[in-house]
Amino acid sequence: MGPVMRTLPLPGGETVPVLGLGTWYMGEDASQFDHEVSAVRYAMDRGIRLIDTAEMYGNGGAEEVVGAAINGMNAAERDDLFIVSKVLPSNAHYDNVIRACENSLNRMGTDHIDMYLLHWQGAAPFQETLDAFETLKSSGKIRHFGVSNFDSADMAEWLRCDGGKATATNQILYNLSRRGVEWDLLPNCKKIGVPVMAYSPLEQGRLQGDPVLAQIAECHGVTELQIALAWVVAQPNVMAIPKAVNPKHIDQNIAALEITLDAQDHALLDAAFPPPTGPSHLEML
Ligand code: NAP
Repeated sequence: MGPVMRTLPLPGGETVPVLGLGTWYMGEDASQFDHEVSAVRYAMDRGIRLIDTAEMYGNGGAEEVVGAAINGMNAAERDDLFIVSKVLPSNAHYDNVIRACENSLNRMGTDHIDMYLLHWQGAAPFQETLDAFETLKSSGKIRHFGVSNFDSADMAEWLRCDGGKATATNQILYNLSRRGVEWDLLPNCKKIGVPVMAYSPLEQGRLQGDPVLAQIAECHGVTELQIALAWVVAQPNVMAIPKAVNPKHIDQNIAALEITLDAQDHALLDAAFPPPTGPSHLEML
């Protein structure tokens, strides 16, 4: 079993790979479309099964990239994938969720989304969104649902709603430079059995050039961002969805799963990127 196959269990017991591929900024420029489709296909050929997208990305363009990448797959190949998409808060009222999901399915040319998330909290009552998620689940259009950018208070409110306890993930900003969630959100998610999906695990590339990462990377014979990614996926109950279009980056991210950080590495990283010493507002990008 290759490193990509390391998995985390969802609340119902189904497992999801700890490493996926993000698609933000894909589908924005028609001249890059074929290149981005090739990148998603390349990632899938290398064993990536978890693909993260959203109706927001490129105004549906990223879902079209995913759709083109999976076009022509047979049912078994499609079922081997785990596709995550998200509904915008502005579409989170009941009828709009149903319509937004249909639109996402059409753009991707698939009959189901494996996990459908509320992208962040908006004005729609949680119960309405949840009722729509339940309807979509009953009709087989989504297999799981969850939330994104929810802090502990949002999670508690969502879980109190009818059906909220079926929530399969909370997708949040988490990387070495964004450790505030370790104070309460990560422990709370672990306690209630909700796995966390870390977005922007490379801080969109901004972690590159950090001297401590460079020092550790040199010892391991890898790159700074591979160390940053290895650190995220080493956290319990956390999966990561780095976005990469460059095939070299895709290969490096997959290889990062094989990096084992030792106690000294962790001590250096904790000194350079200290864990939180108190509560803070949930950051988002
Ligand atoms: P990210 O994954 O932290 O960073 C992506 C950037 O890093 C790209 O510029 C990519 O370049 C580069 N990169 C990737 N692997 C690399 C490597 N091994 N070495 C050097 N550079 C590398 O940032 P992100 O796209 O913001 O986050 C990942 C995904 O999370 C998104 O694509 C999206 O699916 C999701 N997300 C969700 C939310 C939310 O609100 N739920 C918010 C933000 C992101 P290339 O593309 O040129 O390879």
